[in-house]
Formats: sequence, C-alpha cells, structure tokens
Amino acid sequence: MANYSKNIIERLTNRGPNVGYCAICRTHGPLTKDHVPPKGCGNINDSIISHVYGNNSEKPGRPLLSQGGSHFRTICGRCNNTLLGTEYDWALSDTVCAIEAYFQRASASRLTLPRTQLFDYQPNRFLRSVIGHLLAANAVPDVTEKDRAIPLDDALRAYVLDPSATLSDQVCVYYWFYPHRRRVVMKHSAMGFCGGNGAAIYGHVFKFFPFGFWVVWDEHGDRSNHFNLRRLADSTPTISASARLVLDLSQLPPADFPEAPTDNGMWLVTDYLVSQAEDRTKPVTPI
Ligand SMILES: [Zn+2]
Repeated sequence: MANYSKNIIERLTNRGPNVGYCAICRTHGPLTKDHVPPKGCGNINDSIISHVYGNNSEKPGRPLLSQGGSHFRTICGRCNNTLLGTEYDWALSDTVCAIEAYFQRASASRLTLPRTQLFDYQPNRFLRSVIGHLLAANAVPDVTEKDRAIPLDDALRAYVLDPSATLSDQVCVYYWFYPHRRRVVMKHSAMGFCGGNGAAIYGHVFKFFPFGFWVVWDEHGDRSNHFNLRRLADSTPTISASARLVLDLSQLPPADFPEAPTDNGMWLVTDYLVSQAEDRTKPVTPI
C-alpha cells in the first residue's frame, strides 16, 4: 500500500529532488527545471498538469499548477542549458515557429491547404531536442534511482549525448501533424491487440502543437504500419545536416491517438508515467 500511495503522489509530480541522477546524462548532482516542450515552442503560460484519463475516486490525485509552462525538475544544468538549450532546441523551435507562421499565412489568405507541406529543418538537432525533453518528462522516478537500466531510454540517452551517433536500429520515431494545444506525455506505454497473440507496440508518446511523436522500441511485426504515420530517420551522422520535413495535413489521426485505440486495440500505461498539460489562462481550443 505504501508504494501504491507513493505512486499516486508521484504521478502528478513535476518536481524531482534538488539533487539526483540527471534523466539524460545520469550524472549525480543538482537538478534543474526543464520545460517540456521547450519554451520556444510556446510553453510559457501557467499550465495545469493532470492525468490523461482524468481522476477517479480510487486515484484522487489533484491536477497540478505549473507556473510559466509545464516543466520537470529532472535534468542537470549542463544537459538543460548547454546540450538542449544551446545545441538542439533552436532547431525544434525554429521548425515549430515556421509551421505556425505557415498556418497564419494560410489562414489570412484563405487558401485551401495542400495534402502535404514541406518545411526546412535540421533533423539531427530537431530529433535530439524532442528526445531530450521526452527523457526529462515524467522522469521523477528516474532521478532517484542510480541503476535504472531501461533499454529504450539507454538508447535514447546515447543518441542525445553523442552528436555524431545515429539512432539505434531498435528505435523507430513516428510523427504526425497534431493541431491541438493539449500537451501529452506517455512514457513506457504500449498498444496491445485483442487476439493479437501477444503483439504490442511499446514506447513513449509525446504530443504538443504541431507534432505528435511515437518513439517505438523494438517492434516485432508491422502493426504500426497500419496507422500510415511518417517516420523521422536521421540519415547522416552530421549534426548540422539539413533536410525537408514532410507534414501531412489531411487524414490526421484523432486528437486522442494513440491512447484511445479503436477496433481491437487496447492501450496500456503506468499510471504515474502519463500526464497532460494545458495552458491555464487561455481557452484551450483546437485550431
Ligand atoms: Zn545531465
């Protein structure tokens, strides 16, 4: 019962201890507050962090007010300010801003949107920023335990920490256009299938405007292909490589994809590793 109660508290906790094991580099020392996603992606307003599926009488955790955006005190100053803040985040923020500007222009001109649109970006920096903040999110349990060997997270850390590394072949990063302001993180979640003979898609989900990401670990079979998602794949070890990001603007997955599967699917989560955040002051409406 003690662990159960502890988990109820932890599941809506965004503050780790002042000192702990960095969720990215695993160095033990002072921990700093990391905005998830980074501030340059518009995550600056007071936010309410709550459970993705709401609360019930057995899980009475209260939503948490997070001032100045949704953030987690789970990474060290070097990873926060130098690695992500200086090296990688601008590539993600620039892409998000370019996409926002595109939609503002399209809205003003009332042009019909194309089925797909291309955006210039630096894929190796972009993806490291996404993964770095994903590692920081809902990571309070990670900062209190020294030996927390999780193959997916180990592979993601190795990728973020080494600018010349390529992503492990066992990791597949899917993405889609997510035109919603609700920010969602679901770590170590899995999609199962009724009658699927044990088949599952396991990984992390990270959603914030304008992207949904599904970081899938070591999938056997091709079940994820059925969702027709595009895949982010860094094709070169050159950190400054440029490419064009393809964004599909039609036939989008539902806002609650993949956590509310239809047909024969099921979604499995660990309670305190899933959270959502929404701006407190602004009305939250899909655009
Ligand atoms: Zn660190």
